[in-house]
Amino acid sequence: MLVKSSIYSLTRQQLEEWLVAHGQKKFRAQQVWDWLYKKRVDSFEAMRNLNKDCRLVLEENFYLGTLQQEIKQESKDGTIKFLFKLSDGNLIETVLMKFNYGYSVCVTTQVGCNIGCSFCASGILTKDRDLSAGEIVEQIVKVQQHLDAKEEQERVSHIVVMGIGEPFDNYDNTMNFLRIVNDQKGLSIGARHITVSTSGLAKRIYDFADENMQVNLALSLHAPNNELRTKIMKINKAFPLEKLMDAIDYYLEKTNRRITFEYILLKGVNDHKQEAQQLVQLLKDKRHLSYVNLIPYNPVDEHIQYERSEKQAILDFYQVLLENGIKCGVRVEHGTDIDAACGQLRSKQIKKDKQKATER
Ligand code: SAH
Ligand code: SF4
Repeated sequence: MLVKSSIYSLTRQQLEEWLVAHGQKKFRAQQVWDWLYKKRVDSFEAMRNLNKDCRLVLEENFYLGTLQQEIKQESKDGTIKFLFKLSDGNLIETVLMKFNYGYSVCVTTQVGCNIGCSFCASGILTKDRDLSAGEIVEQIVKVQQHLDAKEEQERVSHIVVMGIGEPFDNYDNTMNFLRIVNDQKGLSIGARHITVSTSGLAKRIYDFADENMQVNLALSLHAPNNELRTKIMKINKAFPLEKLMDAIDYYLEKTNRRITFEYILLKGVNDHKQEAQQLVQLLKDKRHLSYVNLIPYNPVDEHIQYERSEKQAILDFYQVLLENGIKCGVRVEHGTDIDAACGQLRSKQIKKDKQKATER
């Protein structure tokens, strides 16, 4: 049986090679690409300038998208959260946020996550599978189609790879996703406008540095010493801070790009001045290329042991960093009224579905 795959999984070069290998002219790739990413059509049939033979061979071997929109929640601040069903029934989340600099989309890279950080809703359900590059690309296409329908000529200009999943645990597909959305002849989303966030898979940070991409890197640090970091992120056992900082130093040296350190403030856990001072020590030799993003914790039902830090504690922490020459900011929250913390909408929906199943 012929197994079809998503056409969104191919880079332009891969599409070109595939078409040529299947007896088609090379220039057809650009035409298909235009239909997929400029006109954003929903079927091969709509690709009118392709000859019948070309359309047929594509139809036989590929499908054009599989994401079904299950829920679309709009927040008061304009943030929109999409819950999509994949072809195997799994659910994923994608979030569209509006900033003064444009529209940004937060994408999911895996169904669940195996890293299991103690504060995160995505880690609770462990990983079911990786998303294909096409399933990640399609999230952007679907959200762009939502903007297209408004007929206001607005486009997704920024991407954060900060949804469900650990992108560096699905490395190759994530890299292909980045190549596809960045392609100047397609969606053309600037690499400098894309940020990939990792919990710290050190060996993949080396690989990422070697990719020679202009894509930004964010590291979920959340603690300035091994004892505390291991307590809240068990991945720190495999990649303790020494190993992680070596990888970061390599990345900085190789790319000379600024890195963002994410730090969720958890009340009474990692938000004391002492931890702020330790963080200063950890980053002081790379402060010219560092930015610390302080993140107010988004409460998750399953993690009642954590609370959001007091406003004053956040300010004090921020002050210590600033006084010591570490550039930092406090993340402005989006869509708190619509389960915006990563993985929350999905885990709530799964719970609802399970409940319905037991009631039957
Ligand atoms: N797996 C990657 C990317 C997805 S998580 C990573 O961990 O970096 C994206 C960001 O959301 C991470 O910085 C993560 O620590 C943060 N996050 C997870 N749960 C959160 C919560 N309940 N409140 C605030 N931020 C959270
Ligand atoms: Fe996975 Fe990131 Fe959540 Fe940790 S914070 S469980 S790595 S998605």
